Amino acid sequence: MTSAPPSYRGRLAPSPTGYLHVGHARTFWVAQQRAREHGGVLVLRNEDMDAKRFKLEFVAAMMDDLQWFGFEWQEGPDRGGPFEPYSQSERMEFYRAALEKLRAAGFVYPCTCSRKDIQAAARAPHATDDDEPLYPGTCRERAEVRGQKSEVHVLTSDLRLPSPDLRFNWRFRVPDGETISFTDGHFGPQQFVAGRDFGDFVVWRHDDVPAYQLAVVADDAAMRITEVVRGADLLKSTARQILLYRALGFEPPAFCHCPLMTDEAGVRLAKRHDALSLRQLRERGESPEALRQAWQRSSG
Ligand code: GLU
Repeated sequence: MTSAPPSYRGRLAPSPTGYLHVGHARTFWVAQQRAREHGGVLVLRNEDMDAKRFKLEFVAAMMDDLQWFGFEWQEGPDRGGPFEPYSQSERMEFYRAALEKLRAAGFVYPCTCSRKDIQAAARAPHATDDDEPLYPGTCRERAEVRGQKSEVHVLTSDLRLPSPDLRFNWRFRVPDGETISFTDGHFGPQQFVAGRDFGDFVVWRHDDVPAYQLAVVADDAAMRITEVVRGADLLKSTARQILLYRALGFEPPAFCHCPLMTDEAGVRLAKRHDALSLRQLRERGESPEALRQAWQRSSG
């Protein structure tokens, strides 16, 4: 029996933690163009997992701004689809199932280190250029001494820690020294060495929220995304995510990272750049067409 090749499925995955800015729009536009060129489907996923940081007003603004700019998605929180729900806050069961799988296979261990502990003990605090310092391995070694037992109650009783109050993250054990390679649709061949370029990373937070890395892999796999288009700040995270795909037994999608936009001072755009938010551009009477033409001019 032959099966048809999977048709293209792309996604826009904004986090409603502030107003979308023109840099998001540029990356999303690439995602939309690629889906169109392949005659594929574009999914809108509302990444509202982090309840502490997102605000409902930003969800409404996000949908409105995307529509104003000219984005059209075929599946999403507002229109449903075969892989609903499309808001991460409603998808906890997928993330729990993924964590369970990782736990059962021994890929993760409980980690009681605080951010401060890690900063104080990091082997090479400046070795990474993204958010996370290399994890020094404190709790990994503890878990290994205990014969790979990853059950928290075992760990807690062994350590005589006050288990009801114990705050711990689940951390993924990376294969130290292994080179993770992939060919990026924009930047070409990429290589990152586990344990050197990035260390053991959190997949589930102590406040019972899945970390970005796990949620995004569980969703991209469940929604059958065939190509992930996103900002270049996530290139290294792609290496982490490839390890998660492997551990979970999922086929990774293709990846295409877009160069990040900077302001006049060369600083990467962030949600705090209010003047460049789609909201403000719209209020100032800018048109989406003119903005898109300006990108085309600047990227040659
Ligand atoms: N919600 C994430 C962000 O806005 C998505 C990243 C991704 O596309 O994987 O950074």
